[in-house]
Amino acid sequence: MPPPTYPALSYELYPPRNAAAEDSLWTTIRRLEPTRPDFVSVTYGAAGSNQETAIDLLRRLLTETSLRPLAHLTCVGSSRGELEAIVDRLIGGGVRGILALRGDAPDGSETHPGELQHADELVRLIRDVEAKRSAQLAAGRVSVGVAAYATRHPDSPSVEQDIQVLLAKEGAGADFAITQVYFQPDDYSGLVSRARDAGVTIPIIPGVVPMTSTRRLTKLSELAGIGVDQALWSRLEGARTDAERRRIGVAATVDLARTALADGAPGIHLYTFNEHSAALDVLDALDLKRPPEAGLAASM
Ligand code: FAD
Repeated sequence: MPPPTYPALSYELYPPRNAAAEDSLWTTIRRLEPTRPDFVSVTYGAAGSNQETAIDLLRRLLTETSLRPLAHLTCVGSSRGELEAIVDRLIGGGVRGILALRGDAPDGSETHPGELQHADELVRLIRDVEAKRSAQLAAGRVSVGVAAYATRHPDSPSVEQDIQVLLAKEGAGADFAITQVYFQPDDYSGLVSRARDAGVTIPIIPGVVPMTSTRRLTKLSELAGIGVDQALWSRLEGARTDAERRRIGVAATVDLARTALADGAPGIHLYTFNEHSAALDVLDALDLKRPPEAGLAASM
């Protein structure tokens, strides 16, 4: 009998900025670990600003936890040679998943000579380094993810172009995509249907974030380049206590995740902001089926 399948579960973490943030991040990691996610992703600062902190976190996840890390990497701020060296270092260190991104150049920064322009070029670069590391990988592959957009990317003229870009990233060798945050349940199903119509076949994992404050909602809207969800904003604004705000935010996130799963999403990627409580609330409410306690191997 084939083993049962479960929706994928993953979390996004970002490298800590100081010692206090590191302590709090490790509390979060230890609280999330028992939920047995399929992977945890580690962000990469624009222009590689936190490269060593990110690599240190990846190393600790590999050596001190049961978690499988997915390393984010951006084109912005590094030459081709530097990116090859980082990818080689990641593979050599045991990382088996990379999220290939363009990144956003910080305001006023200069273009690095030889910089890759788009994420599809980074996917190809990762595949080239992987080919050279074939023996260490037992001729296997690194899992390469890319970004997808349920609402138009701010630099893109149309959602149709976003789909062509996603198709190009798949053509370059991407295995899966994770979406940028979105606020309306239909945004995800719309993206998947446009993508499938255009011939995209890779899994597209919805990225959802517990929207537990107006501040976070506004920041996320800016980040994703989309309008604030006014209805949710008003409900959060009208809440009398933090606990009530959290209930509202978690319920909205659960709604997004449930609809995506009902529409056939292969799993859920939770942007945690390095906080476990709201992420665990979302997970509790979702009641996502997970592999047995003994881990995936036991279900083989
Ligand atoms: P691309 O796919 O290169 O697209 C960028 C723009 O260029 C789009 O408008 C696209 O339409 C256009 N484009 C792409 N290819 C072509 C082409 N061949 N010709 C013409 N136009 C083209 N940023 C970070 O700095 N660090 C992170 O860790 C990070 N993690 C993220 C995780 C996820 C899941 C997501 C969704 C985003 C993340 N980002 C991160 C943000 C990301 O870097 C930005 O959204 C960035 O603006 C675009 O990255 P991309 O990989 O989608 O770029």
